Amino acid sequence: MAPPGAAAWRSLARSLSGSLVLPSDRGYATARELFDPRFDVARPAAIAYCASPVDVQRTVDFARVHGIRPIPRCGGHSYGGYSTGSGLVIDVTRMSTVKVTPAQKGSPATANVGAGTRLVDLYGALSRAGVLVPGGSCPTVGISGLALGGGIGVLARKYGLTCDATRAVKIVTADGRLLTCDGAAEPNLYWASRGGGGGNFGVVTSFTFAAHPVPELTLFTVDWPWAAARDVLGGWIQWQREAPDELWSNCQLLSAGSSGLLVRSSGVLVGSTGTLSSLVSRLVSTVGSPPSSKFVGGPDPYLDVMLVEAGCESKSVAECHLPSQNPAGVLQRSAYAATSAYVSKPLPSAGLAAAAGAVEELHAEQPGLGGGLAFDAYGGVINRVPAEATAFVHRDTICAIQATLTWGSVPSGSAFVAGRGWLSTTAKALAPYTNGGAYQNYIDPELVDWQRAYYGSNLKRLSSVKRAYDPDNVFHFPQSIPLHA
Ligand SMILES: Cc1cc2nc3c(=O)[nH]c(=O)nc-3n(C[C@H](O)[C@H](O)[C@H](O)COP(=O)(O)OP(=O)(O)OC[C@H]3O[C@@H](n4cnc5c(N)ncnc54)[C@H](O)[C@@H]3O)c2cc1C
Repeated sequence: MAPPGAAAWRSLARSLSGSLVLPSDRGYATARELFDPRFDVARPAAIAYCASPVDVQRTVDFARVHGIRPIPRCGGHSYGGYSTGSGLVIDVTRMSTVKVTPAQKGSPATANVGAGTRLVDLYGALSRAGVLVPGGSCPTVGISGLALGGGIGVLARKYGLTCDATRAVKIVTADGRLLTCDGAAEPNLYWASRGGGGGNFGVVTSFTFAAHPVPELTLFTVDWPWAAARDVLGGWIQWQREAPDELWSNCQLLSAGSSGLLVRSSGVLVGSTGTLSSLVSRLVSTVGSPPSSKFVGGPDPYLDVMLVEAGCESKSVAECHLPSQNPAGVLQRSAYAATSAYVSKPLPSAGLAAAAGAVEELHAEQPGLGGGLAFDAYGGVINRVPAEATAFVHRDTICAIQATLTWGSVPSGSAFVAGRGWLSTTAKALAPYTNGGAYQNYIDPELVDWQRAYYGSNLKRLSSVKRAYDPDNVFHFPQSIPLHA
């Protein structure tokens, strides 16, 4: 197949209501950026900013006809850099409208969300309408990557994962068709679009989510001296398993550069400060060590809670962006790496020691680097969805573990190797206490048995959906759903 010449690119550009950025264009350097500057080395053939489903259809057709790999991109947070490459990037961020349909007799409220909406913009729009959709924390993460791969956040134990709230998706498949998948229509593609992961079956142009009235929301944070780290983690696991669905929390063991080692639990309650205070007191007594600080606050408006969780406390929605996304944006891109695992049984004391020991080792050996372990609560309604009901298989877990490292700017080769070394040593040290699964949205290019880890018993059905909707494997990347499993 001949690569497209200048005339073909011009004709594609003219056919779009959005815009096309080619390597020769002034905006190319910014247009090709993902969130992690490590991936700035990628040089896409072009970036198509699609402003409508028709734009997406035309771009997918163009890529297919010219034998160029179409690469869907939304928030650009793929840990593996899988939303860039040498192909044709199909950027959906110009499709970012949010339309809420209020509850009517017999039918709950829904939110129709453009596939390019970033989380902070979603929360801003939903809060104006007085409803919520369960999402994630990072404000610039895109709804597409989040919802297609799962979506865990501070409201998940009460309202489920983002993919559990998905009622319909519109998706352009490899043959250029625009399909609506809602269970009645295209049930298998609808199933796969709830946890099967982004970039596998086509380009989603919009989602419809179930939306809930905003309830009373309260927040807590408790810190302990590092010496209590093992007790805190063990106590937190026990406490959060017994907690009501209304409570979501995490436990973080962090090496925080010059701030030293930090052990913290924080979270959000759908409920009053009185209820939260007694739950937090129970956490402190379960841990059995006095905290160094304790905060219980609220009730706070939904948007404020989501901004706090996004690390954007006291910033506006506009400020809570990268400058390339919003002129008022004050956030910075950052280089990072991570790996994940799931825990289905409480950690024995050797597991608690392995977790704390890994973070101590990080602090001793790479003291300038921010990183550590975050244990994020699962359970609640997440675990009441059968594993085969959606493509998201991880339904029997107490919590996820995410081991993360943040460099900020692009690390040197040796610093990156040392950091990855810590991630893999830590994964091995914790393996005896985890269930073999990993979160597909924390996609890890170095995970060996990734097909089983991300998809478990749902892998075979995902492959059959792949064969049905993308038999030529047009949408592919190193960890895409295989045609045969
Ligand atoms: C700082 C940070 C915080 C995070 N916090 C959370 C969290 O709280 N909860 C959580 O669950 N996850 C979290 N994540 C993980 C996040 O959910 C995934 O990285 C997700 O894939 C990012 O989606 P994106 O649209 O931003 O990324 P992208 O890189 O744009 O896309 C991710 C994948 O989806 C594909 N894709 C993008 N758009 C589309 C589309 N329209 N149609 C089909 N495929 C598409 C891409 O090709 C790529 O393979 C976090 C990640 C980071 C970096």
